[in-house]
Amino acid sequence: MQHVSIEAVETSPSDGGADRRRLSDPLNAAAVAINHYELGPGERLAGLHAHTDQEEVFVVSEGTVTFETWTPAGGSARPREEAVTDGLTTGGGTGENGTGDEVTVRAGEAIRFAPGEFQSGTNDADNETTAVLAFGAPREGGAVRVPLACPDCGHASRRPDASDGETPVLVCPNCDGERDATCPECRSEAMTAVLADDRTAVIGVCRDCGAKVWA
Ligand SMILES: [Zn+2]
Ligand SMILES: [Zn+2]
Repeated sequence: MQHVSIEAVETSPSDGGADRRRLSDPLNAAAVAINHYELGPGERLAGLHAHTDQEEVFVVSEGTVTFETWTPAGGSARPREEAVTDGLTTGGGTGENGTGDEVTVRAGEAIRFAPGEFQSGTNDADNETTAVLAFGAPREGGAVRVPLACPDCGHASRRPDASDGETPVLVCPNCDGERDATCPECRSEAMTAVLADDRTAVIGVCRDCGAKVWA
């Protein structure tokens, strides 16, 4: 048995700027990744992303989380086997071919995303804090994909790679093309994939300078 106080676990910022406490190690969890998040107004759990081999469940205990979802043209979530092998290929979309949507999850509610489904949760409230428990299984969930199309071959998603000390890059699982993933305006590494305002495309937003970059 492992028993922890969430408050006693050290915090680290998530990819979306939220306050994250990683519970998997303190709980010695073998098969499930567990994170607790607190989101201030405007903060995100993470940018739009999918895991090739991990389902994710979010349980909201305080406030409201708005989840953006993105379904690339050519189909919804990949069948599990296909997702693992082809990295979410969607038939040569440009990254602007797809359908965005939003779903609101309130305190006392939960939401589950299958492997291959692109999602990003935000606290859209003006002055309310949100608390969320996130479960991912299996714990090591295969590769991550962001729905920013490959400029070289048009593949609809790419793999973020941010090895320690190296410039973060986006790597295409189809053609292996590799591009700088930092902000073109300020070189910040805090780039997040989000739905464009009209929900018909995915763009990159810099959390430091606010630059918006089309896929
Ligand atoms: Zn490519
Ligand atoms: Zn920037």
